[in-house]
Amino acid sequence: MIQLYIPLNFLGVIYREIKQSLTDLDKMFVLMEKEREVSDRPGARALVIAPDAQADATVRFEDVSFAYEPARPILQHVSFEIPAGKTVAVVGPSGSGKSTLARLLYRFYDVQEGRITIGGQDIRAVTQASVRQAIGIVPQDTVLFNDTVQYNIAYGRPQATRAEVEAAARAARIHDFIAATPRGYDTPVGERGLKLSGGEKQRVAIARTLLKNPPIVIFDEATSALDSANERAIQSELKNAAQNKTTLVIAHRLSTVVDAHEILVLESGVIVERGTHAALLERQGRYAQMWAMQKSEAVPLL
Ligand code: ATP
Repeated sequence: MIQLYIPLNFLGVIYREIKQSLTDLDKMFVLMEKEREVSDRPGARALVIAPDAQADATVRFEDVSFAYEPARPILQHVSFEIPAGKTVAVVGPSGSGKSTLARLLYRFYDVQEGRITIGGQDIRAVTQASVRQAIGIVPQDTVLFNDTVQYNIAYGRPQATRAEVEAAARAARIHDFIAATPRGYDTPVGERGLKLSGGEKQRVAIARTLLKNPPIVIFDEATSALDSANERAIQSELKNAAQNKTTLVIAHRLSTVVDAHEILVLESGVIVERGTHAALLERQGRYAQMWAMQKSEAVPLL
């Protein structure tokens, strides 16, 4: 019996390994599928961000319209600017197109009308890789690779040293948690390794972004509420990571939007209100309504 058990057990391990690899491959194909949505123009050059050459990290959406499928427009004539180093926050109901704005800026898709520029350069005219090099993303659900903590944090800058990875993890306040595991930064994460909570995964993504140190940052704030102490802490780490960066925030919490240079209220792909927190409250429109609701019921912004 034992003679049979050992090979069967071994096969079980192999099966799990293969299944895991397939999960990773799956993710890779999903990513590759996205890659195929856009292709670089022949001879496309890299994006240039050099403040002294007046190509600073200002992001502009100019009259952008976009549809995933021709019959169903998602964004319609959207225009806004995020001056270099400033933050623009987007709020609005689920399905209004907030994440689509982020996907377009990261060039998962090309816009069908209008244009998006970084430092005055149309992002369709430069290489996709250089656009992505300039942007750090902290998504709602961070995909972690089945690899070590070190690999996952250094993902955006693989040549980073252990000391640099550790400094980023400290700033994202995930270092103590990592250091308390038996293998520290060599601990595998993911389905076969250390399981991380939503908040911890976000901290890994923040550490990744800090380490990459890109001029532009996109935050897709989690809708699911973390406990409030944890949430306040994450907010402050996010703020840290966005310091002096051109930042697009898809916001679900008032505390995130109050300091934004501009807040956009998106409904069915159209900007229906825009302005600073104070100006929008004064206007007593849609945003003021959302604000009142969140204040009274402590519910996230839509
Ligand atoms: P939420 O707050 O729920 O994340 P959102 O405002 O970010 O919503 P988007 O994710 O931008 O909304 O989606 C806008 C619309 O586009 C939705 O109706 C969605 O169903 C549709 N959509 C999103 N991705 C695709 C896709 N790949 N193909 C087709 N339609 C899509």
